[in-house]
Amino acid sequence: MTAGTQNEKYSKEAIQFDSTYVLRAHHGLCLYFFKGKGYSSEFAANMADIKSRLDKNPLVRIISGTDVICSKCPNNTGARCESEAKVAEYDRQVLSRCNLNDGDIMPFYDFRKLVYQNILLPGKREEICSDCQWTSLCHFL
Ligand code: SF4
Repeated sequence: MTAGTQNEKYSKEAIQFDSTYVLRAHHGLCLYFFKGKGYSSEFAANMADIKSRLDKNPLVRIISGTDVICSKCPNNTGARCESEAKVAEYDRQVLSRCNLNDGDIMPFYDFRKLVYQNILLPGKREEICSDCQWTSLCHFL
């Protein structure tokens, strides 16, 4: 199945449940390499909790904007990232490379697979976010 076909299958018009997790696109990369570190202890605890919830494969709505992970981040001021221009470009890159639209909804595993196949497997991650302060953590062992 191509990414385009998946997009049609899981378009935001097709499925919308209250239990859908809002996830900003570039966090599909961060979640692959999260090792318990983050901007604060509250941030790291929340991200670990979200990661464990996503491991149950709920629906996610992929966006560019603050999300369930940003919700406990000290850089989130007034529902906007202090580095919004930089991270919005990360989001745009992930959406584009995965052939997704802002607002698409799909099972988390499908999104994770798109990120893996289109970005991580071909070694493209550093083209997107090599200027992130956490980039040294984001490598497969
Ligand atoms: S740094 Fe910005 S994008 Fe990253 S979690 Fe914090 S608010 Fe969200």
